[in-house]
Amino acid sequence: MKIFAKPYQLELKYPFTIAKFSRTSTPLMLLEIEHEGFVGYGEASMVPYMGESLETASAFLKKVDLSPFTFPFKMEEITAYLDDLAPGQPAIKAAIDIALYDLTGKILNQPCYQLFGSSPDDMPRTTFTIGIDTPEIIIKKVHDALANDFKLLKIKLGRETDKLLIETIRSVTDLPLYVDANQGWINKEEGLEMAFWLQEQGVLLIEQPMPKEDMDGNAWITDRSPIPIIGDEAVQRFTDVDKAVGVYHGINVKLMKSAGMYEASRMIQQAKRKNLKILMGCMSETSVATLAGAALAPLCDWADLDGPFLTSNNPFQMPVFKEGRYILQNQAGLGVIKK
Ligand code: MG
Repeated sequence: MKIFAKPYQLELKYPFTIAKFSRTSTPLMLLEIEHEGFVGYGEASMVPYMGESLETASAFLKKVDLSPFTFPFKMEEITAYLDDLAPGQPAIKAAIDIALYDLTGKILNQPCYQLFGSSPDDMPRTTFTIGIDTPEIIIKKVHDALANDFKLLKIKLGRETDKLLIETIRSVTDLPLYVDANQGWINKEEGLEMAFWLQEQGVLLIEQPMPKEDMDGNAWITDRSPIPIIGDEAVQRFTDVDKAVGVYHGINVKLMKSAGMYEASRMIQQAKRKNLKILMGCMSETSVATLAGAALAPLCDWADLDGPFLTSNNPFQMPVFKEGRYILQNQAGLGVIKK
């Protein structure tokens, strides 16, 4: 097996501002893994706050030797092997995992979603994310979402202007909303008050209201909130799922946190056993990681896989999308097509 890696700067359509930072592009490492004439595509999206970079990804790839692994790939063993090479670095590990699943699907001539028992009919609608911005830009983004056939919006909150932002959106659309506070709320009583106010505004769920370290504060809001509270920053990999029980109603699973599809699928199964709801989320991603997320999304309650709609230089064809949902195609592997 040969790995080909290419650094790529993914440009964002809009500068992306959330509670803690702002940026205009995201470094990616795009992978192609070749095996017996087949090529699997993978992708690492290294958003700066997660601590990975093109340098750490390149250094990690230098250590990787996949030659002992043959088809059929034993993903449990490969995940353990990658974790033994270095701690952390889930995004570059995810890139390898995603490429191997794409390869597996291509070798077996089966769509990746079938490998996980996902049914395209169960695909949840996906949200279009709107970061913190001026009212003019926010209105422009809402129109962009509507023009792209989105039926759900996700709003980034966590600043003093939260209510104004929601009112701005409500001045242009009645679409249901998800809210992501990105740990930006400090006071639990105010957070709960906000949850009730947001419910009145047509908000269906709230992601990570308080800092992830404040388990008591998050649990206190979860106990009393009229709408589901979802842990995102607090839930990275498999062992975090059990810790979310009693603290959140559900978890946000992202491939760039979970180190890929193998562990994400285990997190989904574990969350179901623990009666936690599941949101399939994403980072700034091309069609590769988005289609990998979409292959698992039918197993989840909600989806936030808007990466390709928020970027301007996706080097792959857009996934098929209609009335707010990805339409999974009957193609071998992930169904990724280069432009
Ligand atoms: Mg989030």
